[in-house]
Amino acid sequence: MGCCIHLLALVFRGRRVPVLLLVGAGHAHLYVVKRAVDLVAAGYRVHLLAPRFFDYSGVASATAAGAVSSGAGRIDVRALASASSVDFHEGTLESLDPETRIAVTSDGDHLSYDVLSVNIGSVVAPVGMHVHPAVLRVKPLSGLADLDARLRASGQQGATVTVVGGGASGLELAAHLSVRSDVVQIRLVESGTIIGAGLPEGARKRIVRLLATRGVAVRTGCVVRDLGERQLVCDNDTEMSHDVALLATGLTAPPLLAELGIGDGRGVPVRATLQHVDRDDIYAVGDPDAGSGHAPGEPVTRLVRRCQSVPGPDVSTSIPFQKATRPLMRRARGEGWR
Ligand SMILES: Cc1cc2nc3c(=O)[nH]c(=O)nc-3n(C[C@H](O)[C@H](O)[C@H](O)COP(=O)(O)OP(=O)(O)OC[C@H]3O[C@@H](n4cnc5c(N)ncnc54)[C@H](O)[C@@H]3O)c2cc1C
Repeated sequence: MGCCIHLLALVFRGRRVPVLLLVGAGHAHLYVVKRAVDLVAAGYRVHLLAPRFFDYSGVASATAAGAVSSGAGRIDVRALASASSVDFHEGTLESLDPETRIAVTSDGDHLSYDVLSVNIGSVVAPVGMHVHPAVLRVKPLSGLADLDARLRASGQQGATVTVVGGGASGLELAAHLSVRSDVVQIRLVESGTIIGAGLPEGARKRIVRLLATRGVAVRTGCVVRDLGERQLVCDNDTEMSHDVALLATGLTAPPLLAELGIGDGRGVPVRATLQHVDRDDIYAVGDPDAGSGHAPGEPVTRLVRRCQSVPGPDVSTSIPFQKATRPLMRRARGEGWR
């Protein structure tokens, strides 16, 4: 039965055990899970609803391009939760009733909670263009999973690849793909007048030189109107053909947040405590920065190293992570739950 399979409002030693439901094993939640013993010791029950595996974006281009193994940068979320006394529910969040505090999962399970924290990342924003379903997207990272296989399938003649979007992820992917032997041509298409506009000028010039050395064809000033499986069309009617297309036009919040009624395309609006502006029992962390909130921002991705137990800097002292996890951990130390 789908109804309330997991009745999380458990009675423990005659008192109700408050339940924290973490949705999404994004960077901040991986850290909270790793430290969940503090929450459990303080008398809370921690549940995590997430896909089984987390893939680290810092190596996503390299894994997608086949330069490193697909397992590199992958965290087994279920194993991490199990080692941290966290109840793991494999799946994704489908819907939410904030009034009764019940979250419905992709398996149809109903999870009750006292406090909900959302860390589900972002998706590519296609900014008004029509995009064919066969086009690969850089976010969520699962969208890149087929890239290596698609390129290998191009056979001996090799593939012509178009990357749309000259920001950080587009530059990174173009640079990686340009050294593959089965890519005969790589094209980077950008609507603005330059690529890497958000980078410091020195870094931008350096990457422009690198891409030129690697034979990447840069096409600026093309506002893509239609991105098809085999061809794209710019606003000025210029057409370009390809075998594989990748969309890397910047990130936006998953549409799910608006469907749940807790956010919009900018993300979940939060206060400095990372609590929803209108609901004390809902927290949101991670991509994208929203409202007046203090979303932790990109440096938080380094935390993944801690969760992989790979030697690295002690990022638990990093300001973005302290911001991301402080409210939750503070409550664990005894401030109580609303
Ligand atoms: C190609 C590429 C390279 C990048 N390289 C870097 C880099 O080197 N350094 C850097 O700092 N940043 C990098 N970024 C940016 C970085 O990916 C994001 O800023 C970062 O991932 C945001 O972390 P997050 O925790 O908010 O979300 P994510 O890391 O995206 O984690 C969200 C998790 O939630 C899960 N999820 C999604 N929907 C649901 C749902 N409905 N229910 C449950 N779970 C759900 C997802 O499966 C995912 O595991 C890169 C991005 C891309 C696309």
